[in-house]
Amino acid sequence: MSPAEFGSLRAHLISQSSNNLNLTFVVDEDVAANLVPQLHALLIKAEAMRVEDAGVFGPSWQDLYKQDAARAAPWWRARRDELLALAREATPHYVYDLATVRARAQALRSITAIDRWFYASKANAHPAVLREIAAQGFGMECVSPGELARAHEALGATPHEVLFTPNFAPRAEYVAAAATNVHLSLDNLHQLAQWGEVFRGRDILVRLDLGVGRGHHDKVKTGGAKSKFGLALDELADFLRLAAAHEVRVVGLHAHLGSGILEVAHWKEVAIQLASLAERIGSVRVLNLGGGFGVPARGDETALDLAALDAALIEVMTAYPQFELWSEPGRYLIAEAGVLLARVTQTKRKGETRYVGVDAGMHTLIRPALYEAWHEIVNLSRLDADATELVQIVGPICESGDVLGNNRLLPRAQEGDVLLIAQAGAYGAVMSSDYNLRGRAQETVL
Ligand code: PLP
Repeated sequence: MSPAEFGSLRAHLISQSSNNLNLTFVVDEDVAANLVPQLHALLIKAEAMRVEDAGVFGPSWQDLYKQDAARAAPWWRARRDELLALAREATPHYVYDLATVRARAQALRSITAIDRWFYASKANAHPAVLREIAAQGFGMECVSPGELARAHEALGATPHEVLFTPNFAPRAEYVAAAATNVHLSLDNLHQLAQWGEVFRGRDILVRLDLGVGRGHHDKVKTGGAKSKFGLALDELADFLRLAAAHEVRVVGLHAHLGSGILEVAHWKEVAIQLASLAERIGSVRVLNLGGGFGVPARGDETALDLAALDAALIEVMTAYPQFELWSEPGRYLIAEAGVLLARVTQTKRKGETRYVGVDAGMHTLIRPALYEAWHEIVNLSRLDADATELVQIVGPICESGDVLGNNRLLPRAQEGDVLLIAQAGAYGAVMSSDYNLRGRAQETVL
């Protein structure tokens, strides 16, 4: 907005909210009604309300007062030269740091209330990642024959356990899994009503829909009537009747309500709900709380307090000592351990908007397009240069949604620069596709 326009608005006061999301204008009452649509047109429709644009907004309250020391520098800062060398070999390129995987696994294992850990291998099924996580004492949670095969391959002869929790999978997959000694989680009446003989004599867990979904985006919420996952509680009695009819023992209750959850209260609530249901069933000895341990992406998000989570779960389990707790996190173990390296292909200006094109796109990392996920992006070639340009970082795919980062303040990029997209280890390479036949990114484990 130009100074001339501000002058004609007769604004007595302009203030920015502490969260850098709102601007407030104090104006004369008789002009307010006319001004609102004008201001919206000027600031919102024209996309001038970009919080990263220092020309419009100052820093947020969180930015001013956050304790930088509390969040350690990411591993990739210290390994910049190595990463630039890997980018010279190939881009797009996923790079995983096993030391970070190990550290996250050990942090989770500090939650003593949880008796058994499974890694949700859908997050990243790279064999070296699976082996590292298995070495930290995790079993594997798998959702397909491909994941089962990968887990068995990576675990070799080690006696780690495998949990099979597919969703709307065909009968044959359950038949094959039931013939091995994996733990099975069922989530639908159909499975027992139509294929009950497959499970005769077996122990199983049942995945329940506790009626609500949680997580960082609607598309990662896996609870509630609109979600395809889990058995509705009003069908539990029928499920138990069918189980008894086929001599299937329901030894575990399972719930996974979503991903990217940063509140301790979530797991406490799930544990209490499952424990009180389990008490009524009798045969249950295991409560599987699912995954969903969040990793803060933006500076103003608070990390999950694992010690507080442990204390909360210990409190619940003191009341229900008869049950064993299981959990199956994915993202927490591998998100921060992975970065995606992409090379700048072209830059462009259209009106006020500047674009930086890179050779990675939604086919390489779909989370921004699918979940509006925010990933920190830096110009690794100019890591310590001043950030002077507000840009859209886009890929080479023929889709308007092919955007990796909106409104990022970066040093001016040149063709050939290497951009680093952080926290890309989870649901990155595994969700990539061959769309536009551009091929998949290389993967390297450090
Ligand atoms: N368990 C189940 C049943 C899931 O569907 C998922 C993710 O989709 C997970 C665990 C892992 O979730 P997260 O990676 O958020 O920990």
